[in-house]
Amino acid sequence: MMDRHDILDWLHEDRPERLEALWAQADRARREVVGDKVHLRGLIEISSHCVRLCGYCGLRADHRDIERYRMPPDEVLACAEQAALFGYGTVVLQAGEDYGLARDAVAELVRRIKAETPLAVTLSLGERADEDLVAWRQAGADRYLLRFETSNPRLYRRIHPDLPGRVSDRFAILRRLRELGYEVGSGVMIGIPGQTYDDLADDLEAFAALDLDMIGVGPFLPHPATPLGRPDVPREPEGLQVPNTELLTYKVLALARLACPRANIPSTTALATVNRAQGRELGLMRGANVVMPNLTPPQYRAKYEIYPAKACLHETAEQCHGCMLARIRSIGRQIGRGRGDSPNRLART
Ligand code: SAH
Repeated sequence: MMDRHDILDWLHEDRPERLEALWAQADRARREVVGDKVHLRGLIEISSHCVRLCGYCGLRADHRDIERYRMPPDEVLACAEQAALFGYGTVVLQAGEDYGLARDAVAELVRRIKAETPLAVTLSLGERADEDLVAWRQAGADRYLLRFETSNPRLYRRIHPDLPGRVSDRFAILRRLRELGYEVGSGVMIGIPGQTYDDLADDLEAFAALDLDMIGVGPFLPHPATPLGRPDVPREPEGLQVPNTELLTYKVLALARLACPRANIPSTTALATVNRAQGRELGLMRGANVVMPNLTPPQYRAKYEIYPAKACLHETAEQCHGCMLARIRSIGRQIGRGRGDSPNRLART
């Protein structure tokens, strides 16, 4: 692992020929450690209800101008079956922090998907009670995604208010998920107002310290209906504040690959949103080995607006599928078959 000084140098690096060397190094590590196969994870956004007030997210509880939905279990199962038909190895069930998704109902849904398909199941349902995480693991859930968003505790508290009577400690939950036997995924946003280069270096060190199996990073995209989306939101002074740019996202992606060579790293939708033409491909060429085509049915998709102008908003599952395959092939990579478990977990167990 490179030391902190190197990380900070790379985060500040702007010379194109030096950056080419970083991309090449990350791409080489990716090829040597996780190979040329790109694994497909079908994303199903199962509910847009949320009790939280995250400063960055358009699904925050007090955003009244959106219609909320919760997908009926049969519809989720139909999406999972479609994922299996497309040849995907995994479905990711993601939602706001929605307690209308009751422990037993989610457990039952996981059990049905596991019984009726060969898919690995990843959950991304927020900061749920220990009993929920235990029950879902027992029902067969394989993986859990919970980004810590930023490792700076002051910034985190500012952008991610606690629920009344409960302190949000995503690091504790991540450790617990590991104990329960989940493959554990986390990640951060890049360019949050108030985030510094030092914070990003801490984030990268935290990825390695947590020994993550999956790492998702994307640019922060301001949503006008949120506190962090206002034009006058406080930022760090020039030179300290990290920009929410495509370039900085590639740097963090490449450095994440070098810090955690065996992790599964997606080329994210947020990256595709800032560069529709090439974001996915460039992510895959600079460290990523996973993509998450969206399987959410069209009538729900537009309502899951965590940030505006999200890529793939008006596509169907078939369109996302075809688009993803074409992009992967265009850069000479192969489609991964099977579950695509994290080589990191295999190495650990
Ligand atoms: N409720 C779940 C899932 C949230 S959506 C949870 O909190 O874990 C998944 C991720 O989208 C978040 O973890 C966050 O990193 C990202 N996200 C949310 N709002 C965003 C925004 N405005 N710009 C960029 N990424 C955002």
